[in-house]
Amino acid sequence: KLFKVAIDGPAGSGKSTIAKEIAKIFNLFYLDSGALYRAFGYYLKKMGFDLNNENDIINALKTFDIKIIKNDYYLFNEKLDFQIRTPEIGKAASIVAKNPNVREKVNQILRNIAKVHSVVIDGRDIGTVVLPDADVKIFLTASIEERAKRRYNELIKKNKKVNFEDVLIEIEKRDKADSTRKIAPLKPAEDAIIVDTTGKNIKEVITEIKNIILK
Ligand code: C5P
Repeated sequence: KLFKVAIDGPAGSGKSTIAKEIAKIFNLFYLDSGALYRAFGYYLKKMGFDLNNENDIINALKTFDIKIIKNDYYLFNEKLDFQIRTPEIGKAASIVAKNPNVREKVNQILRNIAKVHSVVIDGRDIGTVVLPDADVKIFLTASIEERAKRRYNELIKKNKKVNFEDVLIEIEKRDKADSTRKIAPLKPAEDAIIVDTTGKNIKEVITEIKNIILK
Protein backbone atom coordinates (compact mmCIF):
# COMPACT_ATOMS: atom_id res chain seq x y z
CA LYS A 1 0.00 0.00 0.00
CA LEU A 2 1.17 3.50 -0.83
CA PHE A 3 1.98 5.91 1.96
CA LYS A 4 1.25 9.64 1.68
CA VAL A 5 2.51 12.53 3.78
CA ALA A 6 1.30 16.12 3.35
CA ILE A 7 3.39 18.97 4.73
CA ASP A 8 1.80 22.40 4.50
CA GLY A 9 2.67 25.77 5.92
CA PRO A 10 3.55 29.38 5.20
CA ALA A 11 6.69 30.72 3.48
CA GLY A 12 9.81 30.16 5.56
CA SER A 13 8.31 27.55 7.88
CA GLY A 14 10.96 25.07 6.77
CA LYS A 15 8.65 22.81 4.74
CA SER A 16 11.04 21.91 1.96
CA THR A 17 14.02 21.21 4.23
CA ILE A 18 11.89 19.02 6.48
CA ALA A 19 10.03 17.28 3.65
CA LYS A 20 13.30 16.33 1.92
CA GLU A 21 14.64 14.77 5.14
CA ILE A 22 11.40 12.92 5.79
CA ALA A 23 11.55 11.60 2.20
CA LYS A 24 15.03 10.18 2.86
CA ILE A 25 14.14 8.62 6.21
CA PHE A 26 10.96 6.90 4.99
CA ASN A 27 12.03 6.34 1.38
CA LEU A 28 9.28 8.48 -0.12
CA PHE A 29 9.16 10.43 -3.38
CA TYR A 30 9.54 14.12 -2.46
CA LEU A 31 7.38 16.57 -4.42
CA ASP A 32 7.64 20.34 -4.11
CA SER A 33 4.29 21.80 -5.22
CA GLY A 34 5.56 25.38 -4.89
CA ALA A 35 8.20 24.58 -7.53
CA LEU A 36 5.40 23.76 -9.98
CA TYR A 37 3.68 27.13 -9.40
CA ARG A 38 7.08 28.79 -9.70
CA ALA A 39 7.80 26.87 -12.91
CA PHE A 40 4.50 27.97 -14.42
CA GLY A 41 5.09 31.63 -13.46
CA TYR A 42 8.57 31.35 -14.94
CA TYR A 43 7.21 29.85 -18.15
CA LEU A 44 4.65 32.65 -18.59
CA LYS A 45 7.31 35.30 -18.11
CA LYS A 46 9.68 33.55 -20.47
CA MET A 47 6.99 33.40 -23.17
CA GLY A 48 6.33 37.11 -22.69
CA PHE A 49 2.80 36.37 -21.43
CA ASP A 50 0.85 38.44 -18.91
CA LEU A 51 0.53 36.76 -15.48
CA ASN A 52 -2.86 38.37 -14.93
CA ASN A 53 -4.38 37.66 -18.34
CA GLU A 54 -6.75 34.69 -18.44
CA ASN A 55 -6.24 34.06 -22.17
CA ASP A 56 -2.48 34.05 -21.79
CA ILE A 57 -2.80 31.58 -18.91
CA ILE A 58 -5.09 29.28 -20.91
CA ASN A 59 -2.66 29.34 -23.83
CA ALA A 60 0.34 28.70 -21.65
CA LEU A 61 -1.43 25.79 -19.92
CA LYS A 62 -1.90 24.10 -23.31
CA THR A 63 1.84 23.79 -23.85
CA PHE A 64 3.22 23.78 -20.28
CA ASP A 65 5.07 20.54 -19.73
CA ILE A 66 7.07 19.59 -16.67
CA LYS A 67 9.16 16.46 -16.33
CA ILE A 68 10.07 15.38 -12.84
CA ILE A 69 13.12 13.15 -12.59
CA LYS A 70 14.11 12.34 -9.02
CA ASN A 71 14.46 15.74 -7.35
CA ASP A 72 14.88 17.68 -10.58
CA TYR A 73 12.25 19.55 -12.53
CA TYR A 74 12.57 20.11 -16.27
CA LEU A 75 10.64 22.66 -18.29
CA PHE A 76 10.98 21.04 -21.71
CA ASN A 77 14.77 20.50 -21.67
CA GLU A 78 15.63 23.26 -19.21
CA LYS A 79 16.56 22.10 -15.74
CA LEU A 80 14.90 24.41 -13.24
CA ASP A 81 17.10 25.52 -10.42
CA PHE A 82 18.09 28.97 -9.18
CA GLN A 83 16.10 30.68 -11.93
CA ILE A 84 12.81 29.78 -10.19
CA ARG A 85 14.09 30.62 -6.68
CA THR A 86 14.18 34.40 -7.14
CA PRO A 87 11.81 36.70 -5.22
CA GLU A 88 10.41 37.83 -8.60
CA ILE A 89 9.39 34.28 -9.55
CA GLY A 90 8.07 33.71 -6.01
CA LYS A 91 5.74 36.61 -6.53
CA ALA A 92 4.77 35.37 -10.02
CA ALA A 93 3.99 31.93 -8.52
CA SER A 94 1.74 33.50 -5.94
CA ILE A 95 -0.17 35.40 -8.68
CA VAL A 96 -0.70 32.40 -10.97
CA ALA A 97 -1.62 30.24 -7.97
CA LYS A 98 -4.89 32.19 -7.70
CA ASN A 99 -6.04 30.77 -11.02
CA PRO A 100 -8.26 27.64 -10.69
CA ASN A 101 -7.09 26.23 -14.05
CA VAL A 102 -3.48 26.50 -12.99
CA ARG A 103 -4.26 24.84 -9.65
CA GLU A 104 -6.09 22.04 -11.45
CA LYS A 105 -3.05 21.43 -13.67
CA VAL A 106 -0.61 21.38 -10.75
CA ASN A 107 -2.90 19.12 -8.71
CA GLN A 108 -3.13 16.70 -11.62
CA ILE A 109 0.65 16.46 -11.96
CA LEU A 110 1.00 15.80 -8.21
CA ARG A 111 -1.84 13.27 -7.98
CA ASN A 112 -0.60 11.32 -11.01
CA ILE A 113 2.67 10.70 -9.22
CA ALA A 114 0.99 10.00 -5.87
CA LYS A 115 -1.08 7.32 -7.62
CA VAL A 116 2.01 5.22 -8.27
CA HIS A 117 4.53 6.29 -5.61
CA SER A 118 4.61 6.76 -1.86
CA VAL A 119 5.10 10.50 -1.50
CA VAL A 120 5.75 13.41 0.77
CA ILE A 121 4.45 16.62 -0.80
CA ASP A 122 5.00 20.11 0.56
CA GLY A 123 2.83 23.11 -0.17
CA ARG A 124 -0.12 25.15 1.03
CA ASP A 125 -3.12 22.94 0.23
CA ILE A 126 -1.76 19.40 0.11
CA GLY A 127 -3.69 18.18 3.19
CA THR A 128 -6.83 20.15 2.33
CA VAL A 129 -7.13 19.74 -1.45
CA VAL A 130 -4.43 17.70 -3.20
CA LEU A 131 -4.30 14.65 -0.90
CA PRO A 132 -7.30 14.85 1.43
CA ASP A 133 -6.72 11.13 2.13
CA ALA A 134 -3.04 11.52 3.12
CA ASP A 135 -1.92 9.14 5.89
CA VAL A 136 -0.21 11.94 7.80
CA LYS A 137 -0.86 15.69 7.56
CA ILE A 138 1.56 18.12 9.11
CA PHE A 139 1.06 21.87 9.27
CA LEU A 140 4.37 23.62 9.97
CA THR A 141 4.37 27.10 11.44
CA ALA A 142 6.81 29.49 13.06
CA SER A 143 6.58 33.09 14.18
CA ILE A 144 6.81 35.59 11.37
CA GLU A 145 10.06 37.02 12.79
CA GLU A 146 11.66 33.58 12.85
CA ARG A 147 10.56 32.80 9.31
CA ALA A 148 11.87 36.13 8.05
CA LYS A 149 15.14 35.52 9.90
CA ARG A 150 15.55 32.13 8.18
CA ARG A 151 14.85 33.63 4.73
CA TYR A 152 17.23 36.49 5.46
CA ASN A 153 20.06 34.16 6.53
CA GLU A 154 19.51 32.00 3.42
CA LEU A 155 19.82 35.07 1.16
CA ILE A 156 22.88 36.39 2.99
CA LYS A 157 24.52 32.99 2.63
CA LYS A 158 24.00 33.28 -1.13
CA ASN A 159 25.73 36.68 -1.00
CA LYS A 160 22.52 38.54 -1.77
CA LYS A 161 22.37 42.13 -0.54
CA VAL A 162 19.12 42.40 1.39
CA ASN A 163 17.90 44.06 4.53
CA PHE A 164 15.90 42.29 7.19
CA GLU A 165 12.95 44.72 7.12
CA ASP A 166 12.39 44.10 3.39
CA VAL A 167 12.44 40.33 3.87
CA LEU A 168 9.95 40.62 6.75
CA ILE A 169 7.59 42.77 4.69
CA GLU A 170 7.85 40.34 1.75
CA ILE A 171 6.94 37.38 3.99
CA GLU A 172 4.01 39.30 5.49
CA LYS A 173 2.69 40.11 2.03
CA ARG A 174 3.00 36.49 0.87
CA ASP A 175 1.23 35.21 4.02
CA LYS A 176 -1.62 37.60 3.45
CA ALA A 177 -1.94 36.76 -0.26
CA ASP A 178 -1.80 32.99 0.35
CA SER A 179 -4.22 32.90 3.29
CA THR A 180 -6.86 35.34 2.04
CA ARG A 181 -7.29 34.07 -1.52
CA LYS A 182 -10.65 32.46 -2.35
CA ILE A 183 -9.31 29.26 -3.85
CA ALA A 184 -7.32 26.78 -1.74
CA PRO A 185 -6.27 29.33 0.92
CA LEU A 186 -3.42 28.44 3.23
CA LYS A 187 -4.93 26.80 6.30
CA PRO A 188 -4.41 23.58 8.26
CA ALA A 189 -6.62 20.62 7.33
CA GLU A 190 -8.99 19.67 10.15
CA ASP A 191 -7.03 16.49 10.77
CA ALA A 192 -3.58 18.11 10.43
CA ILE A 193 -1.09 18.07 13.28
CA ILE A 194 0.28 21.54 13.86
CA VAL A 195 4.01 21.71 14.52
CA ASP A 196 5.37 25.07 15.66
CA THR A 197 9.06 25.23 14.77
CA THR A 198 9.83 28.56 16.47
CA GLY A 199 13.09 28.22 18.40
CA LYS A 200 13.64 24.61 17.26
CA ASN A 201 16.46 23.45 15.04
CA ILE A 202 16.01 21.18 12.03
CA LYS A 203 17.04 18.06 13.92
CA GLU A 204 14.45 18.66 16.63
CA VAL A 205 11.69 19.22 14.09
CA ILE A 206 12.64 16.09 12.14
CA THR A 207 12.54 14.00 15.31
CA GLU A 208 9.13 15.40 16.21
CA ILE A 209 7.68 14.65 12.78
CA LYS A 210 9.33 11.25 12.58
CA ASN A 211 7.60 10.36 15.85
CA ILE A 212 4.25 11.58 14.55
CA ILE A 213 4.62 9.41 11.44
CA LEU A 214 5.69 6.33 13.42
CA LYS A 215 2.80 6.60 15.87
O1 C5P B 1 6.47 27.31 -1.36
P1 C5P B 1 6.89 28.29 -2.39
O2 C5P B 1 7.39 29.60 -1.83
O3 C5P B 1 7.83 27.74 -3.40
O4 C5P B 1 5.54 28.65 -3.19
C1 C5P B 1 5.45 29.75 -4.06
C2 C5P B 1 4.00 30.21 -4.14
O5 C5P B 1 3.21 29.21 -4.79
C3 C5P B 1 3.31 30.40 -2.78
O6 C5P B 1 3.49 31.70 -2.24
C4 C5P B 1 1.85 30.15 -3.10
O7 C5P B 1 1.21 31.32 -3.57
C5 C5P B 1 1.90 29.15 -4.24
N1 C5P B 1 1.60 27.79 -3.78
C6 C5P B 1 0.29 27.42 -3.66
N2 C5P B 1 -0.05 26.16 -3.31
C7 C5P B 1 0.90 25.25 -3.05
C8 C5P B 1 2.26 25.61 -3.12
C9 C5P B 1 2.59 26.90 -3.49
O8 C5P B 1 -0.60 28.23 -3.87
N3 C5P B 1 0.52 23.99 -2.73
